Amino acid sequence: MTTPHGGTPRTPASPGGFDAHHPPSPELISDCVHCGFCLPACPTYTLSGEEMNSPRGRIYQMQLINEGDAALDAAAVASFDNCLGCMACVTACPSGVQYDRLIESVRPQIERNWARTRSDRAFRGLIFRLFPYPRRLRVAAVLGAVYQRLGIRRALHRTGLLRRLPARLRALEALMPDVPLRSALRRTPERSRARADTGRTRTAHAETASAAGERGTEPATARRTVGMVTGCVQQVFFAQVNEATVRVLTAEGCDVVAPAAQGCCGALSEHAGREEEAARRARQLIDTFEPLGVDVIVVNVAGCGSTLKEYGRLLADDPEYRERAEAFAAKVRDVSELLAELTPSAPRHPVAARLAHHEACHLAHAQGVREQPRAVLGSVPELEVVDIPEADMCCGSAGVYNLIQPGPAEELGRRKADNVRSTAPDAVVTANPGCLLQISRHLDKQLPVLHPVQVIDASIRGVRPW
Ligand code: SF4
Ligand code: SF4
Repeated sequence: MTTPHGGTPRTPASPGGFDAHHPPSPELISDCVHCGFCLPACPTYTLSGEEMNSPRGRIYQMQLINEGDAALDAAAVASFDNCLGCMACVTACPSGVQYDRLIESVRPQIERNWARTRSDRAFRGLIFRLFPYPRRLRVAAVLGAVYQRLGIRRALHRTGLLRRLPARLRALEALMPDVPLRSALRRTPERSRARADTGRTRTAHAETASAAGERGTEPATARRTVGMVTGCVQQVFFAQVNEATVRVLTAEGCDVVAPAAQGCCGALSEHAGREEEAARRARQLIDTFEPLGVDVIVVNVAGCGSTLKEYGRLLADDPEYRERAEAFAAKVRDVSELLAELTPSAPRHPVAARLAHHEACHLAHAQGVREQPRAVLGSVPELEVVDIPEADMCCGSAGVYNLIQPGPAEELGRRKADNVRSTAPDAVVTANPGCLLQISRHLDKQLPVLHPVQVIDASIRGVRPW
């Protein structure tokens, strides 16, 4: 791995290279005893064999920069940028080093104190002007559909023109999903009532309220009132996952509220060190969900969930929002966590299939949610769920990493696809749209790749999941 994109110091920062606004904590750094147990778990160390591309090496660099013994220079920025933020090292570390908090404090330092090259800034600008905006994504999805349906993609591949594009644009093109137009234009209903025909009995009052389209008086039998975060990429490119989530939750006796006005949760910005932008989006989302008074806030995107659960930390410096952010974060559950909490009441039909289960890093390592997806899938008769070799290794998606760092992302994607194939599955399940796109791409679309909730939905409805 090399210095990928260059740049220069923005201004003379503090003598050590980090400024005084939340540099990586010396206490957290001192937890690292340099044992190296995390090294085999780290994808960038596995690919490069270089200490500076390992968790231990990055922590050591943070210490040197903190202490003024090294500068925040191009090599250091490259080493931090190369980190996928997969947090496999957090799971692997026997000393409980909170590498997640360390790298999350470094990324904003880089954004504030390092001037990226013009082309790097332009590409990142394109990403952050597109992905957090569902309306813009819908336009992109329509253009993508035209591009694919009219055979332009095939023609460009045949002529070899695409190979002449810069690597990042090639990666963007290659990841483009084949989305049916009607799917890209569908929206999650704002209110969906708990169903009465799958083991729940609703009161007469509840039925009357539902028929009147009324809200605020919940049916006495609703097991939970759930606020649903619909995700930006998820709602446009994977509308079917949101629909399956609503069907499963209502079948399990929950009322679901998915406010149309909700904006991006800020996860992409936060993972990229765009701290102010992430905080602004977090405040907006809190303002949207707070008045709803829901019991639980559910999310089916692992990357968003890991940030939503961290809102308390993200807004810790904001006296107006600090406590509200903590209260919001305390309600957040991945959909698999909520389903595991609820004893299944909707009958499951058998799904006779063998599924390879890819654990999304932001669910398994960042949120520590590992058993719940297995338990939930385990409720489906005749379904065989197999772990894939090197299960802890990131697939290379990592938010927008596969667009910004296409080289290592491609190696990791191919490796993941080979490991998936080795289990000879009928399909793959994973709880993150980025992983879905990345794995689909590297499997050459030879296998269906689904969100686990789609399998549960199919089982409840008694249909084939693919
Ligand atoms: S981060 Fe943990 S596992 Fe890695 S070197 Fe430090 S103490 Fe050891
Ligand atoms: S977050 Fe992932 S890529 Fe980064 S140091 Fe840890 S294991 Fe390596």
